[in-house]
Amino acid sequence: MSVASADPAAIVLGDRPLIVCDVDEVVLEFLTPFSAYLGSRDHELLPRSFRLNGNIVSRPDGIEASRPQVAEFLEDFYDAQPDWQTPVAAAADTLARLSAAADIVFLTAMPPRHQHIRRRLLDASGMTYPMIATEDAKGPAVSALHAGRPLPLAFIDDISANLHSVRAHAPAALLVNLMANVTFRALAPHPGDGVAIARDWAHAETLIGDHFRKPARG
Ligand SMILES: [Mg+2]
Repeated sequence: MSVASADPAAIVLGDRPLIVCDVDEVVLEFLTPFSAYLGSRDHELLPRSFRLNGNIVSRPDGIEASRPQVAEFLEDFYDAQPDWQTPVAAAADTLARLSAAADIVFLTAMPPRHQHIRRRLLDASGMTYPMIATEDAKGPAVSALHAGRPLPLAFIDDISANLHSVRAHAPAALLVNLMANVTFRALAPHPGDGVAIARDWAHAETLIGDHFRKPARG
């Protein structure tokens, strides 16, 4: 099995550009299969705003799931993720092309106790790049990984807070906002200046290729 760790120090990088890539909604579908999972539990996710809490309701009566209930659904879903989650279109092929010239590391905001299940799912999808699972802020993890090397760095994520965290800790990184689910992408807050919004993986590949061709700034 490929590398799965909660510790950036466990990852060995080559002397070449680095792409740090989120998993849920970026390389694995999340909201679409999570909605299907909720359906199997007689609940549904309503696209009323860009959040889970408050938008998951019981199907028979429309009652909002409580925070502990939402946490329990997520916990159960992550345990059962191979039964539900599928790769985002073009993610594996694009990463394979990018990996010819860059190291790729997955950085997933998920309790590390589920990391081996996710590792097997990514491996089965042909995405064997090392993975860090953490519930801590992503900026410090990216900074620890890249360690200020004078090599290009790109970070891909669907959540603005993660992009901003990386900007604070690795200011030279290209920040790419990418999100698979079209319905919730329309509800997402604008990620702000300095974040490139990718329409899809083909667009992300162009943005990253352009960045890597610029003079290296780390
Ligand atoms: Mg994500």
